[in-house]
Amino acid sequence: AKSQGRNNIQLFSSLQSQGLVDKEFDLGSRLRAAVRQGQIQVHYQPLVDARSGCIQGLEALARWHDEKHGWVGPGTFVHMAECLGLIHALGQQVIEQALAQLRRWQEQGLSLRLSVNISKRQLFSPDFVHMLLRLTEQHAIQPRQLTLEVTESLAMQDAGQAAACLAELSKAGFVISLDDFGTGYSALSHLHEMPVNELKIDLSFVRRIKTAGGRSMVQSIADMGHALGLCLVAEGVEDGESAQILREIGVEVLQGYYFGRPMPAAACHDWILQRNCVRRESTEPLGGQPTSA
Ligand code: C2E
Ligand code: MG
Ligand code: MG
Ligand code: MG
Repeated sequence: AKSQGRNNIQLFSSLQSQGLVDKEFDLGSRLRAAVRQGQIQVHYQPLVDARSGCIQGLEALARWHDEKHGWVGPGTFVHMAECLGLIHALGQQVIEQALAQLRRWQEQGLSLRLSVNISKRQLFSPDFVHMLLRLTEQHAIQPRQLTLEVTESLAMQDAGQAAACLAELSKAGFVISLDDFGTGYSALSHLHEMPVNELKIDLSFVRRIKTAGGRSMVQSIADMGHALGLCLVAEGVEDGESAQILREIGVEVLQGYYFGRPMPAAACHDWILQRNCVRRESTEPLGGQPTSA
């Protein structure tokens, strides 16, 4: 333990001499302030129906612009928020903003679903389901219109506890998606027991889809998912050829830069109108596109 401590001190001072600890520390306290002041923004990325090309939902992605450090990616600040105990406040702000926005879109007649990312501490927090039910009710959103994305690795690390939490959320009507699927070493027995509705194939597989090996990997993931009755989503679709292959494989929903980047709400709204293809609450879809469902 003593040498461990010394190692830590050495590590700390070597990082400090590079100015890294100070930067982390600074970033952490700036993040705390940003969360406190409600400065975390939400961008929206379209989820597109593979067959019709119509938008069917949006993924909410957290964004933070810091005056001093510029745009900080969620890969950095979400983890930081977990460590600093800020994730509940941050997560709640993201969900609240996104639900309010979804409500506005629904009031304009757009039939959209919303996906949000959930981290470990959120999932394992005992009153998470109550918080979600309260927020959805407040914004007049039905639980089945909200998909909760948890990473496969999170779900499988503490499979027992995760399954129990997911079952509670699922019982409350929320849709459960396993994010970054294929990177988290699911035991098939666990996957079978998990109350999930959707698998989101990780973009590292989608990137290799144009190779024979890559294609068969995705095909087997999709076949397994379909055999379990799950919906298949692919993330990170960057070109038309990949989209076509995914369609042939039978993946139902596509997401990626090829269709649209994560955008602020206003830009996303323009994207939706320009695309002219979204299910309307009441009658026919726009632009004479075929209706599904
Ligand atoms: P994720 O949920 O797997 O989200 C997909 C990531 O891939 C996003 O990165 C998105 O911008 C990016 N992406 C989308 N299409 C493409 C594409 O065609 N090519 C490439 N190369 N990338 C694409 P982003 O926004 O940086 O988010 C990174 C991760 O941070 C997310 O991965 C998610 O795990 C986490 N995250 C984001 N927002 C939140 C949040 O509100 N709460 C929690 N707990 N985690 C979040
Ligand atoms: Mg996600
Ligand atoms: Mg993902
Ligand atoms: Mg990912």
